[in-house]
Amino acid sequence: MMKSTTLENLNTFIELIPDLACFKNVEGIYTHYNNSFLAYKKLNRADVIGKTAFDIYSHKDATEYAKIDKKVLASSNPLNTLHNFKREDGFFDYFKVKQEVIYDDKKNQLGIFYIAKNITLQKQYEFINEDTQSILEYIAKNYNITNMLEKVVNTAESRINNSKCSILILNETKKNLLLGSAPSLPPYYNKVIHGIAIGEKVASCGKATFKKERVVVENINKHENWQPYLPITTKANLHACWSEPIFSSNGVILGSFAIYNHKPKKPSEFELRLISSYAHCASIAIEKEQNHKKLLSRTQRIERKNIFLASLATKDHLTGLYNRSKLDTVLEKQIKHSKRYNKTFGIILLDIDYFKIVNDKYGHPTGDTVLCEFSDLLIACSRETDIVGRWGGEEFLIIVDNIDKENIMKLAEKLRLAIDKHEFSFVKHKTASFGVTLYSNDYKMNELVSRADKALYEAKNSGRNLVKYL
Ligand code: GH3
Ligand code: MG
Ligand code: MG
Repeated sequence: MMKSTTLENLNTFIELIPDLACFKNVEGIYTHYNNSFLAYKKLNRADVIGKTAFDIYSHKDATEYAKIDKKVLASSNPLNTLHNFKREDGFFDYFKVKQEVIYDDKKNQLGIFYIAKNITLQKQYEFINEDTQSILEYIAKNYNITNMLEKVVNTAESRINNSKCSILILNETKKNLLLGSAPSLPPYYNKVIHGIAIGEKVASCGKATFKKERVVVENINKHENWQPYLPITTKANLHACWSEPIFSSNGVILGSFAIYNHKPKKPSEFELRLISSYAHCASIAIEKEQNHKKLLSRTQRIERKNIFLASLATKDHLTGLYNRSKLDTVLEKQIKHSKRYNKTFGIILLDIDYFKIVNDKYGHPTGDTVLCEFSDLLIACSRETDIVGRWGGEEFLIIVDNIDKENIMKLAEKLRLAIDKHEFSFVKHKTASFGVTLYSNDYKMNELVSRADKALYEAKNSGRNLVKYL
């Protein structure tokens, strides 16, 4: 930049500068303004030349400029400052202003030369980055979809003047939109929107998701898609609605992000950039939620499988009763427990009478069915605390804790009768024989079972369909 010049060639020079430029003499009077500056401020040359800042700008702004001028004149270095001007759409234009003192040949100060570079676009990208970052940080730390979407909506509303935003999410059938987040829209409005079918003629969001493209309705009142909704849009003071489709990372439509305005309005370039960046943030939140759900159902499936696998180790695969190995474990535990606390328990061993005939006459599969029906009867007639298992083949064992002879015999008799009275499939009538015994101190497991077995043998020998105790 020139440091000393004659003011005569300044008019030519100033027009070569693409940025806004002007010159003010040491008395604070503007003597040069370039066309870019006049055009930006929508001023005529006559409005500014020969005037001071107090004649042109607000008192507040002019006072601030005067302060800066004083500083510049007192220093030999150029000064850079930031200024913003509010635009009609409510946003600001941002300028980086360089102000530098111009001297004549004799080193006398002639005035201050101003160059204002419009950095609005750069600023807007900074805002978008700021918003995106703060939303993504929030999404990274949260799992609740409502909260994540509300963060997107709140950020958008605080950035865009007079706006109310909403996020709608496509349901599983991909035919209706459900409310994702619209905390600033009135409940009566949200109630109507929740569940609307998507379609070419449905408001802004219904169309945006249906057509998978941005839908800008500058004036709701005049748009055919909005006519059915006018009573509620009028009541909610909504007059413009710009809707951006939300896509997943692999291009699947997820829903829509909408910005409503209190006045009929066309979106600015900046607003359109904001909309697409907020829609992108919303897509990340929705996808995170969907992946989280998938992951959850996967872990749930694995858990269920593990429970099933664990049950295979303890359950008999045909009847679903405890298997022999589980019965052995329970018996060992029960013996230890009874020894320690000097308590007793009993066992009932039962064997189906003449079961071989069932297989021989009806076939093995029918035999299996009868075994299962037997098992169901045993479960139905015993208590939840009783351990009912398949001892092997057509023999079953029931372990009953904390019981005396009288009561365990009652239980065995109840089971015998229930079986005797039951009408089985195919075979109709079937009976079983029972051997019952109680644990008494210092029995080993084999001794205990063998006593029940002997009792059962006696029941068989005494004519079957009987309960015997030993
Ligand atoms: P009883 O006990 O009254 O003396 O006569 P039974 O005919 O029941 O006695 P036995 O022990 O001779 O026969 C038991 C039969 O049970 C032999 C076998 O074919 C059958 N069996 C054992 N396990 C199964 C099974 O899992 N499914 C089927 N269908 N049959 C089984
Ligand atoms: Mg047998
Ligand atoms: Mg038998």
